[in-house]
Amino acid sequence: MEKIVYMDNNATTRVDPKVVEEMMPFYSQFYGNPSSMYSFAGIAGNKLKKARAKVAALIGAQPEEIIFTSCGTESDSTAIYSALNSNPEKKHIITTRVEHSAIKNLFESLSRKGYKVTFVPVDKMGRLDLDTLYNSLDDHTAVVSVMWANNESGVTFPIEEIARVVKKRGIIFHTDAVQAIGKIPVDVNMAEVDMLSVSGHKIHAPKGVGALYVRKGTKFSPFLIGGHQENGRRGGTENVASIIGFGKAAELAAHHLAQMQTQVSFLRDKLERGLLKHIPHAKVNGDPKMRLPNTTNIGFDYVEGEAILLMLNELGICASSGSACTSGSLEPSHVLRAMGVPFTSAHGSIRFSLSRYSTEHEIDEVIEKVPPIINRLREISPFWADTENLEKGYCSAQ
Ligand code: PLP
Repeated sequence: MEKIVYMDNNATTRVDPKVVEEMMPFYSQFYGNPSSMYSFAGIAGNKLKKARAKVAALIGAQPEEIIFTSCGTESDSTAIYSALNSNPEKKHIITTRVEHSAIKNLFESLSRKGYKVTFVPVDKMGRLDLDTLYNSLDDHTAVVSVMWANNESGVTFPIEEIARVVKKRGIIFHTDAVQAIGKIPVDVNMAEVDMLSVSGHKIHAPKGVGALYVRKGTKFSPFLIGGHQENGRRGGTENVASIIGFGKAAELAAHHLAQMQTQVSFLRDKLERGLLKHIPHAKVNGDPKMRLPNTTNIGFDYVEGEAILLMLNELGICASSGSACTSGSLEPSHVLRAMGVPFTSAHGSIRFSLSRYSTEHEIDEVIEKVPPIINRLREISPFWADTENLEKGYCSAQ
């Protein structure tokens, strides 16, 4: 395959070779079931224990507060169903309008089952309306779930403050920190969260492994009921090799965290400046200050995001768009809609998300290749012709 410029690290990441190396012996050499009694299986069991400590350390937790799952989505569902089972009489649940579908679709399905759901809005910069959130807390609220960082815009929410307010009301607080870990500091000693979801494949571990942090003392009921694995909190034989990989990836993420704030954010800023300088009618979606260091979401007016992606794909550049094809028409994402991004811009919004593997050479390549693509697409866009005419003072024929 030709060389790829990978700028879609919020979708998934390359598995770090050091992670692969750590995992390999646990497929064909030390393949014992960690629940078995003999010492051959104990090798896997011991390594699993170390992985738990490493994932815990990344978020300042105790190892016994970590439950391994199959993905971020499972962690989210586990947290919410556990909170509801712990408070069966409470029928009000709160989340935001910009959550990942793992929470969004779950809350919508709970709404169809009779729960009253408050979806807290965001402003045009993607910042959460904290007054609405705090005013919606009531005695019937079973759980509040607010993501730590948004996967599309990269905007981060003040989780420490929100947790403090929610906990003061005695309500269970969950955060989806899938996009936050490894990019910004996440510490459960600073943020009073009860439960926190993470996923391996966003931090250079393999796909198919995640974890849920459950603070000591929090009432918990399992989502997967079965064997006694994970201290009876999640049935199913552990995905040993992937968990070990996740442990290594967590250790590496902690090691590289500072690099995210310096090198990666420098490259992201260079990319953003370069594109905005060479492309008129382009704008960053989201608060430029309170956001992840690796993410930029840029709206290019009067072009279709899908068309941009197809042309980028021809050049081996991977990014993602802010619209999704639903029933034959391109719908801007619920995140951009919640932010009130105008349709003309939301349709042409592209997310570039970097990682510690991104290079300056790649950034230069994207800055060079994107402007001609946007120009070409605008030349064939009837809306663009109208805009140009308006700017020149002409009237377009209807
Ligand atoms: N939450 C957020 C914010 C995400 O970005 C994602 C994945 O994109 C998920 C949850 C789901 O994680 P997983 O793919 O591990 O199920």
